[in-house]
Amino acid sequence: MREACPLCGRPKHPNQAYCPQCLDDETQVYRTVKEYLLTHPHSNAMQIANATGVPISRILKFVREGMLMMDGAKARESGSRYSQRSPLG
Ligand SMILES: [Zn+2]
Repeated sequence: MREACPLCGRPKHPNQAYCPQCLDDETQVYRTVKEYLLTHPHSNAMQIANATGVPISRILKFVREGMLMMDGAKARESGSRYSQRSPLG
């Protein structure tokens, strides 16, 4: 029995998250974001979305799934401590 891709509804393999087309797209988007983060390691999701054209929801999904690490996500957890002391003023 075939399952439907959660992104586009096309048939997909049961042991894969998405259909081949969406997997390809996902990989490309992920690569784009990751490359941007390599050159701009201190970007937050909003900046990445603006710079790469990738929807912010997809970037946040990568972060949630542990595929990407970024300052913005970390700052949400231990953020207030950081912003209080700013040696560079
Ligand atoms: Zn699909």
